[in-house]
Amino acid sequence: RAKAAGRSRIEVFDDALRERALSRLRTESDLRVALDSDQLFLVYQPIIRMQNGSIAGFEALVRWSHPERGTILPGEFIALAEETGLILRLGRWALKEAALQIKDWRRRTGRDLFVSVNVSGRQLMDDDMAAAVAQVLGETGVEPRALKLEITESLLLDDTARCVQMLHDIRKLGVRLCLDDFGTGFSNLSYLHSYPVDTLKIDRSFVRAATAGDRRAEIARIITMLAAALDLEVVAEGVERDAEAAFLRDLHCQYAQGYFFARPMPPEEAERHLLVQAA
Ligand code: C2E
Ligand code: MG
Ligand code: MG
Ligand code: MG
Repeated sequence: RAKAAGRSRIEVFDDALRERALSRLRTESDLRVALDSDQLFLVYQPIIRMQNGSIAGFEALVRWSHPERGTILPGEFIALAEETGLILRLGRWALKEAALQIKDWRRRTGRDLFVSVNVSGRQLMDDDMAAAVAQVLGETGVEPRALKLEITESLLLDDTARCVQMLHDIRKLGVRLCLDDFGTGFSNLSYLHSYPVDTLKIDRSFVRAATAGDRRAEIARIITMLAAALDLEVVAEGVERDAEAAFLRDLHCQYAQGYFFARPMPPEEAERHLLVQAA
């Protein structure tokens, strides 16, 4: 009897596994179709200059308009894209799309705007990454300094020497680099000076701590000081409240991004924000 119960538990387990495997397969083949048929699109979240509230640039964030499931967030498909290697195609598409968009906005507003594009570890491990970036620059004619690549700190831990070389190769093209979710990775800061990065992006957990009386807010302060000492730019992400913005302003944090200022939005809407600001 115990044996029978054990077996049925295993069957239930098997069913769950099979269901998960099937759903992954479905998502994977759907994602291939999506890449072939323009179902992916980018939304843009303004990055604000704290000094005067103007828009300095945007972070491009991918969305998937699935024919049956509606709009899907990256949390549901980036990991799978990485595992299947589809992230290479997705990444190149996103970079080119964002480059064309920022080129257009720079031309039409005459402003020195930038766009920040997220890059996954799998992309950095690809030997052709720097060539792919160079190709996007060539095909779009965008000014290299208008492009920033966002890399998460943890990602640089796996194969440091190789990653550092890749970052240097990309930096040589004139494209700028940002360490995303900074402070959540690991505490060895000695590597920072060997990475050719331009910007630190303070993880939103430290921003949130600012108004919660949480001592982790001190991390935001320290990152801001670190950035100043190393002559790097600093952006705070996930700013949702007035008090958080005030805290960051007190720290002399240069840039901020979050729902308090603006949500990620389709390009037409982002463009309206730019035009309103110009007026
Ligand atoms: P991330 O790069 O750290 O992006 C910030 C995330 O925080 C975005 O979620 C954004 O919509 C969200 N966010 C912005 N302001 C606020 C706020 O005030 N409060 C809160 N709670 N959240 C805020 P999203 O768009 O769902 O993207 C999630 C992650 O997916 C990104 O984290 C990034 O790691 C990844 N991702 C997005 N687009 C791409 C892409 O094109 N390529 C790759 N490789 N990864 C991407
Ligand atoms: Mg990011
Ligand atoms: Mg984060
Ligand atoms: Mg981030």
